[in-house]
Amino acid sequence: MGGRDAGVIEWAAAGAIGGAAWAVRGRSSAVFGPSVWRGDRARRAIALTFDDGPSESTAEILRVLESYGAKATFFQCGAHAERLPEEARAVSAAGHEIGNHTYTHARLWLRSAAYVRAEVERGQVALERVHGRAPRLFRAPYGVRWFGLREVQRRLGLTGVMWTALGRDWKLPGESVAGRLLGSCRNGAIFCLHDGRMMEARPDVRNTVEAVKRLVPKLVEEGWKLETVSQLLRAST
Ligand SMILES: [Zn+2]
Repeated sequence: MGGRDAGVIEWAAAGAIGGAAWAVRGRSSAVFGPSVWRGDRARRAIALTFDDGPSESTAEILRVLESYGAKATFFQCGAHAERLPEEARAVSAAGHEIGNHTYTHARLWLRSAAYVRAEVERGQVALERVHGRAPRLFRAPYGVRWFGLREVQRRLGLTGVMWTALGRDWKLPGESVAGRLLGSCRNGAIFCLHDGRMMEARPDVRNTVEAVKRLVPKLVEEGWKLETVSQLLRAST
């Protein structure tokens, strides 16, 4: 009870300094742990990111990326990686970066610090076991960060990653998703898409696949280099 009360008091203070919703979900908020939402602004490069996978449709997205020589970052849920280890490994084997998206796509808001820690750690352990390498990036489900995240991110060496633009591919048709993102291109942008749908098995991600088929050729044609988040964060020298 004491921990939760202390959390609520800190939460009220966070609200007072910058707006409660912003503290939890704002892309540049570091109230509950540091995160990035944009990479190097000096290069004509963009990072595509895919959350909530792997799913039965991830391979379709990999095929599109491969045919354009594009690299991306996949924030996988530990439970999905254990459910579909071959699909998960196909992503890292193709040279894409893997990030941690918790174990069960947990909404961390109003949870105990122990719960937050356990979700991130379980995700990390599962992904390291499946890929043979521990992720260095973390994206909070729903972009929601909470007490406990800062400490577990630091301990596991995880950089928090938000986004420059959301595709809203969970509800918009592929053409609209591609249009939104093409209108958000700028040096160092991080785009957020989804190759899964939270904890669903066999999710319908046709909107996402359609968006990727429209978006990737156009980006390449316009001269954007498609990099992983870690590549994008490296400043040009
Ligand atoms: Zn998610």
